[in-house]
Amino acid sequence: MTIVKRILKYLLLGLLGLIGLLLIIQFTPGIWHHWVTYPSYEKEVNELAKLRKEPSAQINLNTYRGVMHVHSYLSHDSRGTLDDLIPAAKTDGIDFIFLTDHPHGDIDTLPKGFRGFHDGVLIEPGTEKQGFCAWPLHPAIIKWNANRDSIAKKIVSNGGIVFYAHSEEEHNWINPDFQGMEIYNFHTDTKDQSPVPILFDVLVNGGAYRHWVLRQFFDPQTPILAHWDSLNNTRKIVGFSAIDAHENQNLRARYLPDGRIQWVGNNAHNLDTMEVKFWNKWIFSAPDKSGWVFKLLVDTYQTGFNYVTNYVMSDSLTTSSLGKNMKQGHLFIAFKSLGDAKGFQFYGTNSKDSITGILGDSIKIDQLKNLKASSPLPGQFTLVHNGKTINTSTANAYQFSFSEPIEKGTYRIEMSLNLQGKLIPWVYTNPIYIY
Ligand SMILES: [Zn+2]
Repeated sequence: MTIVKRILKYLLLGLLGLIGLLLIIQFTPGIWHHWVTYPSYEKEVNELAKLRKEPSAQINLNTYRGVMHVHSYLSHDSRGTLDDLIPAAKTDGIDFIFLTDHPHGDIDTLPKGFRGFHDGVLIEPGTEKQGFCAWPLHPAIIKWNANRDSIAKKIVSNGGIVFYAHSEEEHNWINPDFQGMEIYNFHTDTKDQSPVPILFDVLVNGGAYRHWVLRQFFDPQTPILAHWDSLNNTRKIVGFSAIDAHENQNLRARYLPDGRIQWVGNNAHNLDTMEVKFWNKWIFSAPDKSGWVFKLLVDTYQTGFNYVTNYVMSDSLTTSSLGKNMKQGHLFIAFKSLGDAKGFQFYGTNSKDSITGILGDSIKIDQLKNLKASSPLPGQFTLVHNGKTINTSTANAYQFSFSEPIEKGTYRIEMSLNLQGKLIPWVYTNPIYIY
């Protein structure tokens, strides 16, 4: 008996030791990041921000920052409310949110949920189902049991927007009714990486450095960009960024009307409902505006809205003007947690140095002498022609001008910032189409 007890004791100690060791291994990168890596990233980004110089405005349109492909409580996998969305947008300087809530059945009635201005932030309701992002921009009924292509045709012919969501998936890419595609989707980018190390990292760094924790998922989306370029060689297809934000990789609790506690986990699933236990008071705080008394958050709207942002050049902050300019491709995307790209411009000029078109526009070849770009932050401009890099600037340029003989086809700009000892992708513009 004593031998059995002794063996059990050693086994238990061994197991506890192993768990301790595993925890130390899992938490070590986060602790290292907390004291070394992330403070240095933060310092570099702050130093870079000091080099900001507003370029003189050449383009006669305003630039609005917005997030597209965002989910609220109307989706089965989110609990987001206006009290979550709006403060996040305000903190991040976001002017508009184009929601894409999953429909619940075959009949999708838009507008649903939120729309219009809320504390200065413009919200437009939209829908996402099976690789399809749509914003009808006016009241509409979508019957999802119809053929996808005919749904797209109907929304577009009534003045709405239909873009491909999740460009890593199969689509009917040749359907001209789809006006755009995601050239970056945060959810897509996370698919090739285990979330476990990120989870431990967020437990250590979820306070001050959550944005750096989530940046660990970032990879340049080279195959998707190449596919976008190849599609643009045959027809115009606008590139936009999707944060695909749900604020749902979290553990939360709130009181139910009957006094019990509801626990909500990943993807907004109800985990359990239980009586209040004595230890609850140790971990619960006063309810926030949505009623949560406990929140352990991995993804937040605020981190997402700053992670990747669409910059739309538009005459006004209205649904109709934004929609028109999005479809036109008057849009570039930027990884905003590295630096705000407001003020960035890309345009073509003629021999008299007058602007003959901007990003997203088509310009007749005899109306084009120079392609020009300017940036508020210094970095490296890369000019991509029909999918091939044909020119790069120095690594610390604010201005870019390309005046070598210009050919037909598409020209777009990628800009990278000098950070962490390397050039990191920051801005992707829509192309200028030369014909
Ligand atoms: Zn989505």
